[in-house]
Amino acid sequence: MFQRDEIRQAVRLQEKSYRLLRWVGRQLKSGALKFDQIHQAMSMGEAAKEWLGRHWDSLPQDARPERREELEPFAYLMASYLATSFELKPREPYLETYCGCYCRWCSYLAAGPRLKVRKVTKKARRDAQELKAVYLQGLAEFLDRAVPGTRLLELAEQRGEGHHVSLATYGNELVRRTRYASQGEGILVLWREIAWEGHRPKEDFRLQAEPLWQAQEHLLEAIPKW
Ligand SMILES: [Zn+2]
Repeated sequence: MFQRDEIRQAVRLQEKSYRLLRWVGRQLKSGALKFDQIHQAMSMGEAAKEWLGRHWDSLPQDARPERREELEPFAYLMASYLATSFELKPREPYLETYCGCYCRWCSYLAAGPRLKVRKVTKKARRDAQELKAVYLQGLAEFLDRAVPGTRLLELAEQRGEGHHVSLATYGNELVRRTRYASQGEGILVLWREIAWEGHRPKEDFRLQAEPLWQAQEHLLEAIPKW
């Protein structure tokens, strides 16, 4: 379950991370970015925090949070966004010209526009269903209802509430990603469920906090009637 101010922050940071990735792509061409600090023993989130903190003043304002206090959630979200959405081929020497750090964070950034969008696998679909079930069970517990998450998910689908569940679960995961508590392919499936139509992204889709929040509010009202 997430709070309104948390989802607003997460959506705002998510938008900044798209912009940052595009900016990085442009900078790579000019060779202006440095990957010469070694992050060997760090998690991808910690490496992101170190790198973004060190480059903070040279990042464009629209591609990073206004306040430096948001460095940590921003770094965690950005790291999770890259690892969730794109594939990194481990043997491809993205950093051959830099003589730099080979950690996952630096490799992802240095790959820039060469990153490949991940394909949705069967495992990813199963993971997404699991994320939904765990999330629904959390809502039910908050409402003092002892119903297993998998049963709640069945009930939601029977009642045509699938879209609300996708939206709210995505929102919940987005907030957890700002704490580096959620990664993985399941999120990619949730994203496609809310932002894609058929096999392509919806035209003009823009993620906003309010529909995610409203979906959770709706479920909190609906679950006691199931
Ligand atoms: Zn590194």
